[in-house]
Amino acid sequence: MNRLVNRPLDQTNRHTLAAVTLSIALSIAIAPLHAPLHAQPSAAPVDLIITNARIYTVDDSRPVVSALAVRGGRVAFVGDARGAMALRGAQTRVIDLGGRTVIPGMVDAHGHVAGLGDALAIVDLVGSTSVEDVVARVVAKFDGKSAGQWIAGRGWDQNRWGDTRFPAHDKLSAALPNNPVILTRVDGHAIFVNKQAMALAGITAATKDPEGGQIIRDAAGNPSGVFVDNAMALVRRVVPAQTRDEVKANVVAAIADAQHWGLTGAHDAGASEQVLDIYEELGRTDEMRFRMYAMISGGRTESAMLDRLIAKGPRSALYGGTLWIRSIKLYADGAMGSRGAALLDPYSDDAKNNGLLVSDPAFLKAISLKALKTGFQLNTHAIGDRGNRATLDAFEAALKEVPVADHRFRIEHAQILNYADIPRFAQLGVIPSMQASHQTSDMYWVGSRLGVHRLPGAYAWRSLLNTGVVIPNGSDFPVEYVNPLISFHSAISRQDANEFPAGGWYPEQVMTREEALKSMTIWPAYAAFQENELGSLTPGKYADFTVLDQDIMRVPTSLVLKTRVVSTWVGGKAVYEAK
Ligand SMILES: [Zn+2]
Repeated sequence: MNRLVNRPLDQTNRHTLAAVTLSIALSIAIAPLHAPLHAQPSAAPVDLIITNARIYTVDDSRPVVSALAVRGGRVAFVGDARGAMALRGAQTRVIDLGGRTVIPGMVDAHGHVAGLGDALAIVDLVGSTSVEDVVARVVAKFDGKSAGQWIAGRGWDQNRWGDTRFPAHDKLSAALPNNPVILTRVDGHAIFVNKQAMALAGITAATKDPEGGQIIRDAAGNPSGVFVDNAMALVRRVVPAQTRDEVKANVVAAIADAQHWGLTGAHDAGASEQVLDIYEELGRTDEMRFRMYAMISGGRTESAMLDRLIAKGPRSALYGGTLWIRSIKLYADGAMGSRGAALLDPYSDDAKNNGLLVSDPAFLKAISLKALKTGFQLNTHAIGDRGNRATLDAFEAALKEVPVADHRFRIEHAQILNYADIPRFAQLGVIPSMQASHQTSDMYWVGSRLGVHRLPGAYAWRSLLNTGVVIPNGSDFPVEYVNPLISFHSAISRQDANEFPAGGWYPEQVMTREEALKSMTIWPAYAAFQENELGSLTPGKYADFTVLDQDIMRVPTSLVLKTRVVSTWVGGKAVYEAK
């Protein structure tokens, strides 16, 4: 495979500059005196011309055009067909898009790439309707796997079945007699395993329940196949760790899946040292046809691993502009669904529980200082209002000691904010990196967790935008579906796919379509220090774009989710084309 972009930016600029200088010199030498010196030099032919399209450039100087041209992996021209065709040469590929829609390549500003790869590799049990359905799905995906290999799955929820008791292992054991099977419940708090898995783990009727865990048993006291909370470790400890080859295969599959959904890049919200190494390998071998903005997974305490990666310094646009390693990911608190998000006041449905800070505020400040001193960006997960305040406090204290003008520190999620903290993002220059699809996934139950009085500060996009910040959008895949148009739809409607609730949930917080488009293109680019390289279809930037079968800027809101990706282009090359 060819490298996406053969010429780094500085080289391209040098060539262009040289051509312009040469052309000016020639025109002075041979043209009549009245010839304007600013006449366009006859540029080299372009590689690709797109015509007959409705192209949203996300560039305010020319917001909508009908044609674009690509040279050397970068946008060479935007405008009309006549202007584009003037750049045509013998080798130029010309594509008439038949009126289809083009937008700059969508970038998911918060996803988990290896996590998506893992999710794609295991059996998807979300929505399964019975234990028989679970067994059938496992058999369908893994029949023929060699004996002894572990089989994993995730997503079952017995509360959705006709029989809501925990399942028993006998059918699963009978269907897969030669492989150990481990199937994680939808919430991650229980596993369902077969006889072979229990045998390998040495589990018998005599095995005692560990503290904080439960082995579900039948009437005779035998383990029935389900292990809850801390009991899960009794089986998990014998599951072999993934090999590097397996991790790499999953990463490659995740990138392909993202491209399929129209993404040309992603911000990986916490990559391990091994995954970073795999990204570098994919970059070196020209297999990374994607803009990967990888955040280093910083852990919960100071670590030699983090220091090792920081010591390499911030690195941008590696391997032909396919990999950036210049940011660190931390966690301030947990998540709302499990009441782990840290709140200033207790949960409305759990009066003694304020959630928890998972990192010591002193650690958040220490890493903030380290990042400011070394030129790294710091992106901290914070969901509850107390988690967000603790993070803003840590950032503020660190910035007071080490003032850096253009740090672009981010809070990932920024979901529940105390009103007093909303203006602090703009004041401190902190970017709220939010996932619009979380709002439409959580709205059914978040009111009972928070009480009505806190909801005006929840998913408060408009309140934040009004202070002057930008909001890079994402999905948090594989927590939510990869399809970026789900977050686009949520952003403009605050409604689910069935247009619930009528009028939208706290509709005063919606984004306009123009803002929602920016939240998937130029704002993620800004949040990754890439706005001069990507995020809009502007001459000189990478030719990353997505072709859609309908116009998401004009179709009724109810039709947005029916949009299909026709093709995805990175550096002027198709990385996905619908059949
Ligand atoms: Zn995440």
